[in-house]
Amino acid sequence: MYKTKAYAAASATSPLTGTTIPRRDPTYRDVQIDILFCGICHSDLHAVRNEWSEFLPTTYPIVPGHEIVGRVSKVGSAVTKFKPGDLAAVGCLVDSDGTCPQCKAGLEQFCPNLILTFNSPDKHLGGVTYGGYSASIVVDEHFVLRVPANLNPAGAAPLLCAGITTYSPMRHWGITKGMKVGVVGLGGLGHMAVKFAHALGAHVVAFTTSPRKKDDARRLGADEFVVSRNADEMKQHAGSFDFILDAVAAEHDINAYLNLLGRDGNLTLVGAPAKPLGVSAFALIMARRSLSGSNIGGIAETQEMLDFCGKHNLTADVEVIPIQKVNEAYERLLKADVKYRFSIDMASLKSE
Ligand code: NAP
Ligand code: ZN
Repeated sequence: MYKTKAYAAASATSPLTGTTIPRRDPTYRDVQIDILFCGICHSDLHAVRNEWSEFLPTTYPIVPGHEIVGRVSKVGSAVTKFKPGDLAAVGCLVDSDGTCPQCKAGLEQFCPNLILTFNSPDKHLGGVTYGGYSASIVVDEHFVLRVPANLNPAGAAPLLCAGITTYSPMRHWGITKGMKVGVVGLGGLGHMAVKFAHALGAHVVAFTTSPRKKDDARRLGADEFVVSRNADEMKQHAGSFDFILDAVAAEHDINAYLNLLGRDGNLTLVGAPAKPLGVSAFALIMARRSLSGSNIGGIAETQEMLDFCGKHNLTADVEVIPIQKVNEAYERLLKADVKYRFSIDMASLKSE
């Protein structure tokens, strides 16, 4: 075991502050990574403030962070994919049972025994796992990803959650040229969804509550831009979408979007507001529409997504911040005021 610097919250109402945490020494199959950048996901904020207490209660202290890019510093004797000095990445998953049907299908994100990067039982050290708001991390090789060399590490970090969470449902629902795709909520996830839908050849419509994001939406790849609070603008798209990805972090009217789907259209929820959403039966049955959800993505698909990003030169639009600004960043996230992901420069942890 060794100690490493980190930022943790001691309770649902405490700010994140500097601390030190234990990490295991790498076993024969582990990779030790010095973290360069870690993205700030809205899920970090939900977890730090225990907003998902009903489904995934938070154990304190919590060290969040699951959008990790870093440099390999050590590898175990059986590790074959990585060597010291390599650029490597870790997302939301650090372990799973490897034997259940989900794992066998490469869908580790649905394993009943999956271990999340933070706030999951730590079978090595006891207590819970600690995430990427830290100087280093030790992870089983199977859960470590390769980062294409042409991608900027600060912008690549958010691909590990915001990227895969939006890429995976688009692949599952077969998004391709000629389809009309809506993206709801231009935050960390939403802005990546616009980029992916555009790269896959779809006609992309961005839905937002923030009219000021219009020029950005076009730059990110949206063909059309709708201010969702404007009923007339919404009406013009009634019954016309093949697919809508909903990445909103707060309560909102989902029926307004279901009604924009065409026959057999699908709306996939990736946003995870704590309170249930009210769904109108009529919005679904009148056009055989479907509503579904999606949870990050498996390890193989995460690598596929990173390679796709390498090929298309896609990264997140990031505001790089020092760790000392993390609490301020959380407040800005609540106001939908980020362009479009915060990426923490972990070099800033050295001065703590
Ligand atoms: P984010 O950066 O904060 O973006 C959320 C966006 O939602 C905001 O930028 C805003 O976009 C819109 N929004 C916020 N409040 C709203 C409201 N009251 N009504 C309508 N729109 C609102 O968050 P994120 O990191 O992208 O995460 C989004 C959600 O996905 C979170 O709930 C997160 O926990 C969840 N998530 C799920 C998965 C998964 O696997 N399913 C993975 C990661 C994250 P506009 O300004 O454009 O309106
Ligand atoms: Zn996330």
